[in-house]
Amino acid sequence: TGLLVYIKKEVPMDAFTFYNPTKIVFGKDCVNQLGQELARYGQTVLLTYGGGSIKKNGIYEAVMAQLKAAGKTVVELSGIMSNPRMEKVQEGADLCRKHKVDFVLAVGGGSVIDCSKFIAGVAKTAPDYDWWEHMFMKRENVTDALPIGVVLTMSATGSEMNNRGVVTNWEFQKKMGGFGDALFPQFSFLDPTYTYTMPQEQLVNGICDMLSHLMEQYFSLPETNNLSDALIEAAFKNIMENANIAVKNPTDYEARSNLMWGATIALNGIMGLGKKQDWMAHQIEHSLSAFHDIAHGAGLAIVHPMLLRYIYKNHVARFVRFATHVWGLQRSDYESDEALALAGIETLRAYFKSLGAPTTLTEVGIPAEDLPAIAEKSNRYPTSYTNFTTEDILNIYKSAL
Ligand code: NAP
Ligand code: FE
Repeated sequence: TGLLVYIKKEVPMDAFTFYNPTKIVFGKDCVNQLGQELARYGQTVLLTYGGGSIKKNGIYEAVMAQLKAAGKTVVELSGIMSNPRMEKVQEGADLCRKHKVDFVLAVGGGSVIDCSKFIAGVAKTAPDYDWWEHMFMKRENVTDALPIGVVLTMSATGSEMNNRGVVTNWEFQKKMGGFGDALFPQFSFLDPTYTYTMPQEQLVNGICDMLSHLMEQYFSLPETNNLSDALIEAAFKNIMENANIAVKNPTDYEARSNLMWGATIALNGIMGLGKKQDWMAHQIEHSLSAFHDIAHGAGLAIVHPMLLRYIYKNHVARFVRFATHVWGLQRSDYESDEALALAGIETLRAYFKSLGAPTTLTEVGIPAEDLPAIAEKSNRYPTSYTNFTTEDILNIYKSAL
């Protein structure tokens, strides 16, 4: 096992500024109000979407009817792929310049939204600006962007109510996050019935992603009894209860409603306030997706439990709390705190498996010989919680084979 540094846990609640301007319109048929909302923005709208699911389930027609009623000029960008690539961002930004687009309307899941955020940001830069370098490699705050809006079709990322996004540079095998307050959507329309047609696999990926977002915030300092910890535990349990219903009955409106809102608040900034987060499971997963183009949620289902297993001995009290508060395990059933802590992680892994998510790299076709290069490319942010070296990351991948 790798080097794990002693961690001092008695740190105070982290200072924070909270800002989130995104307007949420939630409920069945809420998209009927989209035209009215769009009236406040300019004439020409870039409509962005993915591989065509919205043309099969009626969402495209519903959105087009609203754009038409609002009298907008519509330019379309289709074919935004999962794990969106920088070429697609460039294509969208070029379209914005060419057609003098005033507003970007993203209709889809996290991939469409993330790509649209950076289309909106890059459209405001000079055509020869090295935006990949500035927005992603140097992680400069994006301070100017065209306004964007969202019609969400998939519960997963929380991108519909946050100021960040992830884009892949396939040539360099780098998947990187970028951010900036200019990237907050102006509004997001959340109709739970729009998620009924998600393929089962995507439903499961989305559940793993939202739970992972909660855990990234939960396993961080301070480990004192922060209000955020209590909120996260409540959201975690609610998402699992509703996930168990939705996987059996995809058209259960209550379950879909809770999952949709649960995914949104899991990553709209509020859950982790006061906590210093390092998001290492996400960094480790992004590197896998950048090499093998696997679904983000599937990658997290594989690596997140193994990451936790790698660090739990440094944070036994926190993992005991996870085992008891989230999974309802009892101390009396285990011979030590450590055994209980580990049992909580094993229960998480078993839960992902029970949903049908992959739990090994082998299942998604990632071979052992690729792992050193993937670990080398993973981003590392030296924070007090994990402090991973490349060797630690490689050890985690190997444990997930
Ligand atoms: P996604 O990649 O946007 O979509 C996955 C698949 O689901 C696509 O094939 C899509 O089809 C399909 N789909 C979506 N809604 C559907 C519906 N209602 N009916 C039928 N099919 C539907 O998945 P995602 O998990 O939401 O987004 C993943 C991306 O977000 C990754 O790149 C990840 O790194 C990133 N991410 C971002 C954040 C953030 O804070 N910004 C956080 C976590 C992850 P179509 O293409 O045909 O629409
Ligand atoms: Fe995620």
